[in-house]
Amino acid sequence: MLIVMSNTATQAQIDAVVAVVERNACKARPMPGGDRVAIGVLHNKGPLDAALFLGLAGVKDVIPVTRPYKLVSREFKPEDTIVSVGGVNIGNGHMTMIAGPCAIESEEQAMTIAGLVKEAGATIFRGGAFKPRTSPYSFQGLGEEGLQILAQVREETGMPVVTEVMDEQTFGLVEEYADIVQIGTRNMQNYSLLKRAGKSERPVFLKRGMAATIDEWFMAAEYITEGGNHNVILCERGVRTFVHHSRNTLDISAIPYVRNESHLPIIIDPSHAAGRRDQVLPLSRAAVAGNAHGLMVEVI
Ligand code: PEP
Ligand code: MN
Repeated sequence: MLIVMSNTATQAQIDAVVAVVERNACKARPMPGGDRVAIGVLHNKGPLDAALFLGLAGVKDVIPVTRPYKLVSREFKPEDTIVSVGGVNIGNGHMTMIAGPCAIESEEQAMTIAGLVKEAGATIFRGGAFKPRTSPYSFQGLGEEGLQILAQVREETGMPVVTEVMDEQTFGLVEEYADIVQIGTRNMQNYSLLKRAGKSERPVFLKRGMAATIDEWFMAAEYITEGGNHNVILCERGVRTFVHHSRNTLDISAIPYVRNESHLPIIIDPSHAAGRRDQVLPLSRAAVAGNAHGLMVEVI
């Protein structure tokens, strides 16, 4: 349920509504909007009676929320979320280009690629320091040294940086260096990691699980927002299908569905979807035509 306050509601009236919500054993989540505050009601066991709130001073309307996900739904927040980081906006009206290597391998590699992608129009730099690898024999990333190189890239190019966090143990370290914290496809349903991300001050770049439905992805984002972090960016990176002509199958239809159902920005990662260079450009074009809010492209 969403309680919409009138645009003249006072803080005392908002507090009084919150108190009624809490008396009914629910959690209240006041959300400042453009010209009015809306209060989300969470954790209700069953339907709540709108009459509980409709008579209270300052209450304009009470809207039932029908979706299982609440905070990330458009029913809860009709206007688009724009995530701002280091002078870059991600969300409606912006086409954000994120680019960089899969893994940070050395200072020279990162600085060279950063210079090139900046010149090509990227405004955010990406690069993994902790890598989730299918094989334990593959390069696992430089760890903290990689994070330090990312900080250097930010310093020298002015681009904010995004990098993956793999577990709770290293979360504090990663958020110290990163402007945006990425949760990868393999961790989309790692609920303790999502809860930790909900406590972070950093925006979270949440990739879709490779076999997750969009509703499961929304629920993962809900864990983060429910924890108090509203700066979530969704990233479609392809899902596992039966085909062999690409590594994964890019789900372009995710863009209109996400944009209808949620106010969160959606970025397309054509690189992990394709897994091969010749498909990256056409998939990028399809994503832009499909109205994504930006691209994350890997550069080797
Ligand atoms: C990555 O961005 O380098 C990565 C590992 O992505 P994904 O989680 O989508 O596989
Ligand atoms: Mn990669």
